[in-house]
Amino acid sequence: MGKRVLVVGGVAGGASVAARVRRLDADASITVFERGEHVSFSNCSLPYYLSRTVEEKDDLVMMTPESFKASYDIDVRVNSEVLSIDRAGKKVLVRERTTGREYEEPYDDLVLSPGASPIRPKSIPGVDLPHVFTVRNVTDIDLLDRYVRRENAGDVVVVGGGFIGLEVAENLKEAGKTSALWKRRRR
Ligand SMILES: Cc1cc2nc3c(=O)[nH]c(=O)nc-3n(C[C@H](O)[C@H](O)[C@H](O)COP(=O)(O)OP(=O)(O)OC[C@H]3O[C@@H](n4cnc5c(N)ncnc54)[C@H](O)[C@@H]3O)c2cc1C
Repeated sequence: MGKRVLVVGGVAGGASVAARVRRLDADASITVFERGEHVSFSNCSLPYYLSRTVEEKDDLVMMTPESFKASYDIDVRVNSEVLSIDRAGKKVLVRERTTGREYEEPYDDLVLSPGASPIRPKSIPGVDLPHVFTVRNVTDIDLLDRYVRRENAGDVVVVGGGFIGLEVAENLKEAGKTSALWKRRRR
């Protein structure tokens, strides 16, 4: 049996590294754990779903666990969160988010590509209300999109004026919404 390579995180970094390992080592056993529902999606296209420039939600997703298996013989486990690493024992503890089942998985090599999460500024009153959204993955943009359409929301405030905030505001405008973009002034 080849090397057991485990990858934590299945989007840009994790998916690329898994595919690269396969190209370098035909015998490796490669497993990717992704705590979210999707792997290998196009973060860059997420805001464009709001305006339907990207027409279908599925168009945001480039690879699935099935296509990873078929193309690269890589075992991709979504809704699977790595909870801890036992470096001495060379194994990780994984929790299946859908069932709550926990199990250990041994490794020879471990790659961490867990990315980052949006900040929710606690200093803003109401930041945890249900109609306050973040934009990081396909589930996030779907929740925002559904809410805006279901409630026929006319005015949307976008907090954060970097390129992601700008693209979200641009696409909300394209979708016929009024969006105000908030950016903290640099001191
Ligand atoms: C809306 C948006 C638009 C963007 N547009 C552009 C662009 O136009 N150009 C550009 O260059 N970049 C863009 N980016 C940035 C780019 O998407 C990121 O730089 C890139 O996704 C980072 O890849 P990553 O693999 O390091 O992390 P991520 O994409 O964040 O992936 C990490 C994954 O690891 C998973 N994870 C974390 N912890 C665990 C755990 N313990 N167990 C299992 N899984 C775990 C997370 O669920 C996550 O899905 C954009 C980002 C966003 C959000």
